[in-house]
Order: sequence, then C-alpha cells, then structure tokens
Amino acid sequence: MTTHADICRRVRQLEAEGGDRLIILNMGLGRDSITMLSLLAEGPIRAQGRDIYADDVDAVIFADTGAEWKHTYATIPQVEQLSGELGIPFLWLQKPKTCEWEPYEEGLKPLRGTGKKIDPKVHESLRPWRRAGANMTIMEKARTGWYHYRAPIIEDYAGRETTVRRKKADCTTNHKVDVIRRAMADLAHEKYGVKSNAAWGRKVKAGEAAPHLNLVGIAKDEATRAIHRHPCRVTGLKPGVWYADEAYPLLEMGITKADEQPILERHEFGHVRKSGCVMCPYQPISWYWMLREVEPEGWTRTVDYEGAAVKAGGWTIFTHAKAKGRTKEQRLMYLPEAVERWRGRNPDVTIDEVLRKAYSRGHACTTCVSGEDVYERVLETMDPTIAKWMEANRDKVFDLIAEEQ
Ligand code: SF4
Repeated sequence: MTTHADICRRVRQLEAEGGDRLIILNMGLGRDSITMLSLLAEGPIRAQGRDIYADDVDAVIFADTGAEWKHTYATIPQVEQLSGELGIPFLWLQKPKTCEWEPYEEGLKPLRGTGKKIDPKVHESLRPWRRAGANMTIMEKARTGWYHYRAPIIEDYAGRETTVRRKKADCTTNHKVDVIRRAMADLAHEKYGVKSNAAWGRKVKAGEAAPHLNLVGIAKDEATRAIHRHPCRVTGLKPGVWYADEAYPLLEMGITKADEQPILERHEFGHVRKSGCVMCPYQPISWYWMLREVEPEGWTRTVDYEGAAVKAGGWTIFTHAKAKGRTKEQRLMYLPEAVERWRGRNPDVTIDEVLRKAYSRGHACTTCVSGEDVYERVLETMDPTIAKWMEANRDKVFDLIAEEQ
C-alpha cells in the first residue's frame, strides 16, 4: 500500500528533477514581486533549491481586486513590458465591467438576508461575464473578468453589508488566490491537456507530476510570512491543495527588504511602493489619510462601504487598530473621524513619507498565507500555558497585534 510518505518522497523527487508542472510568478505589483521579476531579468532565481530561469516561468499573474491603489495600477505597463521582454505572458486578471457586476449584485439582493445559502448555480446564472468562457483565449478571459466570481472587492463586501476583517483570510482567498488558481487550471489545460486543478492534484498524488509552483515574493526579513501548506510540506497547519505548492525565491536568495531598492532601481522600478487594496485593514490609518487626499473616489467608496456595514449592525475595522485604553464604543469611531484625528496629531506628515513607510507586517496577499496562518504558527511554537491563554483570548490577541501596527 502506498503511504503518504511514499507519495511525498516521489513528489520531492519530481520537484528536484524539475518535472512537468506550471511555474507561475505571483505578481502583486508591490516591491517584493517586482524585485523577483527584476532578478529574473538578470539570471536565474532560486526556488526549492533549483535555478529557475525566465524560460521556465509560464506566466506572471496579477489578480486585480478592483480596488488597488492608482500608484499600483500605474506600474502595470512597465511590468507587462519587462515580462514581455523576458518572453513571459503577463496575465492581468481584471474584474468584470461595472455594467456586468452591478446587475449581479442587484440580482443577489432579494436572495440575501433570507438566512438560506444561495445555490452556486444561481450565482453563476447571474454572472453575464462568465457566459462566453468556452470560446475565449486565456488573455481574453483575463481581460473580461472571467476568472473572477465576485464584484470588485469593496462592492462585494458592501453588497453583503460587511467589511473585510483582519481575522479572516476570505478577501485574499476570494479576490486573489482562487482567481489565480482558475487561471492556472486554464494554463495547465493549454500546456498539458489536463482538465482541471483537481485532475492535476490526482496526478501529483499518483506520483506522475510535481505540484504547480507559485513563486511568491517574500523577503528574508519577513520569513514568518512563508508558510508552506502543500500536504507534503505542511507542519501542523491545515494542509493546502495537492496540485500547487509555493516557493519564496527572495527568501532562498537571502534578499532582504533593504536589498530590494538597488535591484528595483536597476530596472527603473525604484519608485514602486507597497501595493494592496485601498481599504486593506492591514494598512495603518495614515494610508487612509493618503487615500482621502490623493484618491477621493476610492475614499468615498471606502467610507460608504464602512458606513453600510456599520448601519447594518457590523462594526468598523479601521480604528480597531488603535484600541489601547479606549472603550468599545470609542473603538467604533468611523473612518472619517479617525482619519481627522490622526491628521490632527500628525499635521506635518507628507504623502511621500506615508508612501515610504511599509505596512502589513505578518501578512501576505496573493498567497495562501493569512494573518490567521501566522497566528496559528506562533501558537504552535508557544509555551502551552501561553498558547492556552491566547486561544481563550483570541480577540484580545488580535487587538494587541492590531495595536502594534
Ligand atoms: S489582505 Fe488587504 S490587500 Fe489583500 S485582498 Fe485583503 S484587503 Fe486586499
């Protein structure tokens, strides 16, 4: 009988041999992933102990949540150009058009709040942008929103009268990870004729193929973000899927955040700043101030989305980060008020200073890694008494983590 250990031995052997599989560069359009691409332009990068050349990479993929910063969108042409020069297709997985996702959200309204789960087939029947899939190329699907199941991230949560929460990884899963995986399924179909990700997973389990590899940009000084979830690598966490694994080239090459700037500059990316959604709950309050100042449209969307959630009985996520010494009611201060207060205390800070400051410690987007995963990992290595206290006071612990940011 073949054991799990036997399968994993075979998987590792296939990986070491560089067997058939897709290799995808996860492009978040931030400094880490663009550093990875820049290094690839200079020679091989390291992944799972092997050299990976530009020729080995099947696609550079950016999953667009529909609410990225303008400075992030502005880097797309340059990244697309460099990918093109390296001969790697750049897939920008865009959201569907407004005239398509709006009727979808409208159609869902009467079905929500009934307490009943909406049948996935009903969801699919309401998504006009998914109808022409069979006749489209991967590039066409990427451009028309086919890989997305949901409206832009802000409107998706607003429609459900809730906000993205730090303690959940669902924003990353629904708007990044799953979207990229759908594109991977098409790429694998095109390259190997395999029908689905599940079918590739079965080949991996049968010892016939290595898991597809996602190259994720995590610098050496953020190593805690690198959490393998493949069933053959996982160490105590809930295992991930069989068909795909992750590797962290920057980490393997010993590249720190400080090392990134000269690499970026060599490829004229020195101006690149942190990417992410404009309403990301992992960003500090100063970034919301910056949003108010430089992107009034994104600011209005964010304020409206928070307002809708609070009105429906939810609670604001933003000022949760500054809860120290405050009552629960004070923590519920709305975003405009919180930003005003922050600005009152920091009247001289400039946009450039805010942009230069990184955020999202302990969190990674475009990967399977969530703040929750990091928390679980910390828990495993804790003294059992402290771990027990942490588990019993989960909310408090997240409050403390939030205050740290
Ligand atoms: S974690 Fe932040 S940047 Fe990532 S999908 Fe969620 S809201 Fe967007």
